Amino acid sequence: MITDSHVHTLYFSGDGKMTVEEMLEAASRSGLTSVVITDHYDDDFPHDMEGPMTFNLSDYYSAFCTWTKASRGKISLRLGIELGYQPQLVQKYADLSGQIPFDSIILSNHLFEGKDPYFFRDCYDKEKSDLHNEYVSSLANMAEESDSFDILGHYDYIVRYSPKENPVMRYADCPKAFDRLFRALISKGKSLEINTRTIQKLRKSGVSEIDSFPDIEILDQYRFLGGKRLTLGSDAHEASSVAGLFSETARYLIDLGFRYNFTYIRRKERKSRFEDFLK
Ligand SMILES: [Zn+2]
Ligand SMILES: [Zn+2]
Repeated sequence: MITDSHVHTLYFSGDGKMTVEEMLEAASRSGLTSVVITDHYDDDFPHDMEGPMTFNLSDYYSAFCTWTKASRGKISLRLGIELGYQPQLVQKYADLSGQIPFDSIILSNHLFEGKDPYFFRDCYDKEKSDLHNEYVSSLANMAEESDSFDILGHYDYIVRYSPKENPVMRYADCPKAFDRLFRALISKGKSLEINTRTIQKLRKSGVSEIDSFPDIEILDQYRFLGGKRLTLGSDAHEASSVAGLFSETARYLIDLGFRYNFTYIRRKERKSRFEDFLK
């Protein structure tokens, strides 16, 4: 099983740019055997956006059933969702998680102090360690308060739009916040996503290849505390990013001692070997 556990389509994600046909073609070219469609569901989003930030779940499920037929068994399609966390949504998302037969649920935080850092740039005036401490602490709160998810999405999201000269996130920026986040994930059996879109964005902003990968110390500490579940996700919004950097990232993770990519079918975990992702 070679799975991309995080992709967006143009039908249900306001910022998605690919059709399912384009996604399936890209997935086949990349050697994937399965893909989890995880369209955005950001309830109570604080700003007006061009497209809607939520969708009707039954429409999503009907569309998924049609897409499954269109994939004609070449690629195994799975039903996922990316939930945008805010503290007041915990119960709402718990209810939502049982409404259609999800394979896997990513829980993400796209906000910093209640605002989208892509549009509201004030947060980047903060010292890097303060910025990272506040963001990772918000993820720790999220992981402690929520149970209705399988994968914690892009722990390093806040670095994606950072104008800082060296935007890379390090364990040393906020060790206590990371430890609290990891303890919550590990005790609940949740997986930590390795999001290759962040790696791509860092490289585009001029960060070197080696520094663009997740900090060794972050992953060493996760493992030291007992964390073994990692999930690769490309967070592709366009076909060219499907399975982006999967082979290189799998190699990096193997070298750090991680052996398995964790995915989910009907919310039950499945392990596959990172070795299988190597080209
Ligand atoms: Zn996201
Ligand atoms: Zn996403």
